[in-house]
Amino acid sequence: MIEERFDAIVIGAGMSGNAAAYTLASRGLKVLQLERGEYSGSKNVQGAIMYASMLEKIIPDFREDAPLERHLIEQRFWMMNDRSVTAMQYRSDDFNEDKPNRYTIIRSQFDKWFSSKVKEAGAIVLAETTVTELMQDAYGKVIGVRVDREGGKIMADVVVIAEGVNGLIGQRAGLRDAPKPDQVALAVKEMHFLPSDVIESRFNIKGDEGVVIEAIGTLSQGMTGMGFIYTNKESISLGIGCLISDFAKTRISPAKLIEDFKAHPAVAPLIAGSEVKEYAAHMIPEGGYKAIPQLYGDGWVVVGDAAQFNNAVHREGSNLAMTTGRLAAEAIFQIKSRRDPMTKENLALYKKMVDDSFVMRDLKKYKDMPALLHTNSQNFFKTYPELVAKAMENFVRVDGTPKVEKEKATFKAWRAARGIRGLVGDVVKLARAWN
Ligand SMILES: Cc1cc2nc3c(=O)[nH]c(=O)nc-3n(C[C@H](O)[C@H](O)[C@H](O)COP(=O)(O)OP(=O)(O)OC[C@H]3O[C@@H](n4cnc5c(N)ncnc54)[C@H](O)[C@@H]3O)c2cc1C
Repeated sequence: MIEERFDAIVIGAGMSGNAAAYTLASRGLKVLQLERGEYSGSKNVQGAIMYASMLEKIIPDFREDAPLERHLIEQRFWMMNDRSVTAMQYRSDDFNEDKPNRYTIIRSQFDKWFSSKVKEAGAIVLAETTVTELMQDAYGKVIGVRVDREGGKIMADVVVIAEGVNGLIGQRAGLRDAPKPDQVALAVKEMHFLPSDVIESRFNIKGDEGVVIEAIGTLSQGMTGMGFIYTNKESISLGIGCLISDFAKTRISPAKLIEDFKAHPAVAPLIAGSEVKEYAAHMIPEGGYKAIPQLYGDGWVVVGDAAQFNNAVHREGSNLAMTTGRLAAEAIFQIKSRRDPMTKENLALYKKMVDDSFVMRDLKKYKDMPALLHTNSQNFFKTYPELVAKAMENFVRVDGTPKVEKEKATFKAWRAARGIRGLVGDVVKLARAWN
């Protein structure tokens, strides 16, 4: 047993755990961070876009030495069918500012850097150490953790659970339920390596500029899901994720989805000649607001993916993880400064801070979106992308057919596929879920 007692133990060294451990240690608290991987980031998977303003609130000068890939100047939204892409694109030189807003990162490198900052701030970081369970007293108060090392019991005033989407430790202690299969997506991702000048000419960028492509449509074969393509310095991250409940129902394999995505006529030229060096699979919490578990109790708080903090509509996760990790640490610091105990009543401060932040306000805004997309996945991820593709083809093809007839054909196809009531109903449902 480690005899020392800590002010706080942080379980996990991903985005949320590192944000919490850094914030606690830099305010002078005695912090132990435990990570089951060989090092911080060794087990972590992300697309990965990193949102600068959330990291700036933790480490304002991070740009000086953080391993950043490209700063993003362009976002493309693709609606695909098997042969075509209908796209919306936003590109702006305003994103070529001194302090860019979003960067691509490679998590294994980025987390290692973040962890070095946690250590510099004074926390003890123990890698290759798995927390096996929370220790609770006779009244259920969390008083420390057990780890898979000899004699492994470690005591602390408060435990920050930053263990990621699986959340086994929280479940074992009865603090939360296992996420349901329709609340979690399984994503697969590949890294395609290419020389930087090839990436720059294929994506029409220069220097450290980068592009993001988010894609929905028949690539997910009617399942709730989407694909992504992100530019790094010398690689392209490409992946696709769908709800686990949809994979179970359709029996479609994620490997087949990613192969089809790569073979699409709009994608294949972007990655032609690349060398695939990494393949990863990971879960993403997608249940949104209604899936958020209890966030605090006597002696514990839960942050990041472990608390289902993920905005599936905007593809944001790491920023919610960093923010909730930071807010948990700030709440703990305030309680400690007052010399108050880490009781449930006092730790409710963390929930209040999250409620007041963009994290809860954004998730609340989209509270009905996960259920809507899941129950209408065939329409939103297959029927409409096919209809949009046909409408666009009809619109741009010049073949002597009068425009009036073209418009009638498009309208007929939409009405045949969904009916007038279905079309109006879908618009109303989508508009309601958006607000
Ligand atoms: C394919 C994919 C693409 C994504 N793309 C984006 C994106 O572009 N932008 C974005 O913002 N978000 C993205 N996300 C989401 C983002 O990755 C997560 O929201 C974020 O990583 C959550 O951070 P976290 O610290 O809560 O969890 P994690 O980063 O998963 O960290 C949890 C850590 O806890 C450790 N751990 C778990 N159990 C134990 C234990 N018992 N003992 C000790 N250590 C333990 C793990 O090893 C891990 O290091 C993506 C996710 C995936 C899967």
